[in-house]
Amino acid sequence: VPEEPLREALAEVSKKLGLFESVRHVCQAVQIPLPGVVVVGEQSAGKSSLLENISGIQFPRAQNTCTRMPCILTMLTDPTVSESYALVSMDSSFGDAQQCAVPDVEGQIKRLTEMHATGEAFISRQALYVRVVRRDGPQLSLIDLPGVTHNAEKMSNIHEVTVDLVKEYIEPEEMVILCVIPAMSDFGNAEVVKLAREYDPDGIRTLGVVTKCDDAANAEASDIVEKVTMARDSDVRLAFGFHCVVNRSQKNIDEGMSREDLWKKEEQVFTRSDRLRRLPLSNWGTLRLMEKVAKIQEARVDECLPKIKESVRQRTVQLRNELRSLPAMVEAEGDQFKLFNSALRAIKDDLQRRVRAEFMSSEASDRDLTIAPKVA
Ligand code: GDP
Ligand code: MG
Repeated sequence: VPEEPLREALAEVSKKLGLFESVRHVCQAVQIPLPGVVVVGEQSAGKSSLLENISGIQFPRAQNTCTRMPCILTMLTDPTVSESYALVSMDSSFGDAQQCAVPDVEGQIKRLTEMHATGEAFISRQALYVRVVRRDGPQLSLIDLPGVTHNAEKMSNIHEVTVDLVKEYIEPEEMVILCVIPAMSDFGNAEVVKLAREYDPDGIRTLGVVTKCDDAANAEASDIVEKVTMARDSDVRLAFGFHCVVNRSQKNIDEGMSREDLWKKEEQVFTRSDRLRRLPLSNWGTLRLMEKVAKIQEARVDECLPKIKESVRQRTVQLRNELRSLPAMVEAEGDQFKLFNSALRAIKDDLQRRVRAEFMSSEASDRDLTIAPKVA
């Protein structure tokens, strides 16, 4: 399987997207949506594992509800840095964030999740931001979301909250939607595919990703090839169809399997299994998935660029007007002193007025108290 052209194509798109990534935090602060990739799916479908597989950044993942808040990962390249580093924060501008090593990202996400997604908000709508800066590699934005679930043990309205989060993140037309579905599941009943079709009826920004194909390759009951091809004609039809991958299983993680080894295992799964061999090359493999995603994202960038430019222009005008409506700047030291004094005087007057008012009302209530017994 030739990988070089794929990697080159990826690098080309990545250069274009990198421009966006470097200004993403500014746009986030003024609520201008930029193109990004969001993964949606049922709980434990393999969303976090897929993001890890694509990005090489380890996300927390487990058999249970592990992703409990939206996690917005931005990957940037900077050839001047000597070593990769990451920032993890609840603040999109990373004002308070300390640099950490890339392998520590997983722990930092877990720490902030424990802090902010607790009690009533077991699943939190508040987002967590991760920025990874490396010398090279793809530049893109990936969003991990809590899985859609009915398991209300920890939170009574968990289905509603998880579906609302999906809707919120797939709605902007800038977003590329990856619907993650485990190979063994019933494609026809995939709630997230239906949601994606609702918000992207023409399917121009949705791609189905089939995970856990290694498990399915050995299972009698599932014929992935059939499901993937049938899905073209059924009610879960997507313009870009379904793409099959293999992520790290818990066992692979425990054994510390590298990404390169995982991709070798993936190739073996798809080329050696009797069931999967019939799947066209264009429908499987993480690298080819990355290329598809980059292309869809590039198309989104081209499509949305005029709108983004216009939003930036409008926000600039708005912010300039706000700036103009502020009082004039006081430059001279003498004037600053006068201004300071008058502010102090205003505070003092206000305090005196309040103390006086308090005193009068307490006198009045004292009088009420002394009158009361006489009346009784
Ligand atoms: P999420 O809830 O959708 O984010 O799911 P996770 O990424 O946390 O994955 C749930 C579990 O499934 C983890 O133990 C993963 O290791 C495992 N898993 C995910 N993808 C695959 C896959 O392609 N193959 C295998 N064998 N296990 C997988
Ligand atoms: Mg997850």
